[in-house]
Amino acid sequence: MTDLFNKFDMSQSSLGQHADYIEDYFMFPKLEGELGPRMNFNGKPVLNWSLNNYLGLANHPEVRRVDGEAASEWGLAYPMGARMMSGNTVQHIELEREIASFISKEDVMLLNFGYQGVLSIIDAVVDRRDVIVYDAESHASILDGVRLHMGKRFVFPHNNIENLEKQLKRAEKIANETGGGILVITEGVFGMSGNMGSLAEIVVLKEKYNFRLFVDDAHGFGTMGATGAGAGEELGVQDDIDLYFSTFAKSMASIGAFVGGDASVIKYLRYNLRSQIFAKSLPMPLVIGALKRLELLREQPEHKENLWKITNALQSGLKENGFNIGTTQSPVTPVVLSGSVAEACNMVYDLRENYGVFCSMVIYPVIPKGTIILRLIPTAVHTLEDVKETIETFKELKSRLDDGVYLREEILAVTK
Ligand code: PMP
Repeated sequence: MTDLFNKFDMSQSSLGQHADYIEDYFMFPKLEGELGPRMNFNGKPVLNWSLNNYLGLANHPEVRRVDGEAASEWGLAYPMGARMMSGNTVQHIELEREIASFISKEDVMLLNFGYQGVLSIIDAVVDRRDVIVYDAESHASILDGVRLHMGKRFVFPHNNIENLEKQLKRAEKIANETGGGILVITEGVFGMSGNMGSLAEIVVLKEKYNFRLFVDDAHGFGTMGATGAGAGEELGVQDDIDLYFSTFAKSMASIGAFVGGDASVIKYLRYNLRSQIFAKSLPMPLVIGALKRLELLREQPEHKENLWKITNALQSGLKENGFNIGTTQSPVTPVVLSGSVAEACNMVYDLRENYGVFCSMVIYPVIPKGTIILRLIPTAVHTLEDVKETIETFKELKSRLDDGVYLREEILAVTK
């Protein structure tokens, strides 16, 4: 046998082996200053495209004022205890009602965190007789929820409806034997590619197969649909989404999350969602802050309009200049390039240090070896000037990459 902690050898981990010199720069970077498109990194100003602050509410003066006032009036402790025991308030209930009306669902339940909420929703709605069918590119919170499942699960390749139907046939066979049901899980907008889940095609399958649909719309809520109610609204299928989930961590620029559905389903979750039953209630300032954000989302459509103005300018500008931005249908803008991990690091170092542009980088092992994705998140508070500057920068960066400038073994950030 061995000491339990022996496996924590960082040299064996594909990212961990670089930890000593990538930390604070590529990993766990510190962005300083007011949240927005212009922040400081490593002591220098950068044009920032890495925040899911889609609607720009993170630093909206009304939001800042209400957050501050709520914190000073209530503190962070109130209410104490889990919702079920001693942590319920009129404001928690009001927020749930407001969200339910906004997303056109009978009822909504607040969740403290999106990740834990998703995990726990999956855990609460299936038992060992049930079968889960889920999209292969699902977020970690879905994958980890599926891992908790004691029954069968089938995965379909991302948005592949033909294959989904194949998996539904297999699931149906098993559910018929066990007497269980089927849960299909996908996302409204996938956060890495920006693709929307093929919700319209999925709900058509409800005519042939008996399943319930759970949609994680973390990136769609606030950004998609005529009123910002999300991917279900955008695709005209909100009524067919049985469990509609989103987090406050993106468009709402806060912490917390919610799940909406039929009143009877939400009632069941209130009594069975372990992540909420056994956890302290969401602190009051977050609830009051969320009410304010929701009000802005509903009453100030200009935030979503600005977001899409910037998104369209950025995406069409990149495409016109020959960049591959994949198949995005949302503000999430991946710029797909080719190169090694070392080239990616050198390029991003150059981008940050010499061009003053900050975005996130996705490399192997998250995506296949040889592919680099620079992911840009436009927001309502970027300007068309920011877009122009970024496209010019990306043109230079790409020609330097193509010229082999970043082809060196050691990473520039280390040799500085
Ligand atoms: N689902 C998706 C698709 C996400 O991108 C995230 C990350 N924010 C979560 C769930 C988890 O949400 P939270 O940050 O509120 O835990």
